[in-house]
Amino acid sequence: MKRQYLIINSVIFGVILGASGATWLAPTPSIKAPPGLASSPAPDRDPLQTRTNAAPLTTVTSATIPHLKPTVSRRVLTVHKNDTLQGLLTSAGVTPKNAYRAIAALSKKFKPRDLKIGQTLELSLKRLKITKPGKSRSKRATYTISRLSIDTDIENTALIERRPDGAYTAKINRRKLVTLDARREGTIDSSLYLAGRRAQVPSPILAKLIQIFSFDIDFQRDIQSGDQFAIMYEELSDEYGKKLGAGKILIAEIKLSGKPIRLYKYKSVKGDTDYYTAKGQSARKSLTLTPIDGARISSGYGRRRHPILGYTKMHRGVDFAAPRGTPVYAGGRGIIEVAGRNGAYGRYIRIRHNSTYKTAYGHLKGFARGIRKGRRVKQGQVIGYVGTTGRSTGPHLHYEILKNGRQMNPRRLNLPSGRKLRGKELARFQAARTTLDKRHAANPAPVPAGN
Ligand SMILES: [Zn+2]
Repeated sequence: MKRQYLIINSVIFGVILGASGATWLAPTPSIKAPPGLASSPAPDRDPLQTRTNAAPLTTVTSATIPHLKPTVSRRVLTVHKNDTLQGLLTSAGVTPKNAYRAIAALSKKFKPRDLKIGQTLELSLKRLKITKPGKSRSKRATYTISRLSIDTDIENTALIERRPDGAYTAKINRRKLVTLDARREGTIDSSLYLAGRRAQVPSPILAKLIQIFSFDIDFQRDIQSGDQFAIMYEELSDEYGKKLGAGKILIAEIKLSGKPIRLYKYKSVKGDTDYYTAKGQSARKSLTLTPIDGARISSGYGRRRHPILGYTKMHRGVDFAAPRGTPVYAGGRGIIEVAGRNGAYGRYIRIRHNSTYKTAYGHLKGFARGIRKGRRVKQGQVIGYVGTTGRSTGPHLHYEILKNGRQMNPRRLNLPSGRKLRGKELARFQAARTTLDKRHAANPAPVPAGN
């Protein structure tokens, strides 16, 4: 099926090329080829077209116009799973040697291994001069790259261009971004995720919102119907008003049982960005209560198959029900002490944070790449994925906090609060916060999302 598509495609390609070639080489009188030519092998046949033996029009074209001028064509390629840049380029017909040189030039500005699934590449290709018959027959590699661009993120495009001498120049083009403040709010009836989606909050913003509050809120057990959220975040567009995506959260608020917690984004003099209360207290703590991609936590209502247990004498941890494969984060900075099978826990990770605290993660489907005993991890780093290994009734994360080697109730966790801004830094924060509050007030509140 795929092969057939390819062939059809190259037939069309050949036809179009022939047509434009004909226009360029108008003096050639023999556009109407003698009937016999169609079946005889063309002397200067394009290798791309050798596969399309059955297409008389194509054959006529190459027979009629023996020396096609180099032609530029454009392609847009999408990165799929397991694709490499070299593979993508050669499958588009670029010679392996040229692809290699182009990648070497590109690598100065963009690492090909940073390519992500779904990312697109824009290619301008130049057809090589047609080779003599007998050489490189039925090879599809007949192009060199004249231009290749990849949007590396919302703002930047990595670009290589071929100079007349054949060398490539690489650069990063930076787009002019227009940032607008967007406000969204909503009332939670089953899960924060659903409420957020209903209020048209982009998924990455929702995930970030949960992460910001994960030090204080257990998103499986603390959220109740009627709780509310409100956020203001950056919405990015290009200079022509085309929406490109979401930037950072500027103000985040969650109201649990009517009690609001409001946090502000602030970049310190040193340059670290974090979220602070109006008094300048960082929301970040050494351990988190929700060590999982909270946007994917299943709602606590109407669950039948597996209870979402909290901490009891019998169950010395807390469970987070989430789809298989949901990323699990390191609850805090530390060193992996165990990563392997552990009886009823199934696939299990334990992290040592300091001489007092450890955290443990059970029933995992698998571990993230590089996670093994002795490895250092950062807070929030993905260490594994939700599964149902060991003694488990359905996909969930079993999370334990251990204090001096004994499991403890995370609700009793009384960690020192995060950084407190003081002096000049506090004054600077207060000025930034006032500006954010003004922007918030100036921005019309969104129409509440209907239920
Ligand atoms: Zn459990």
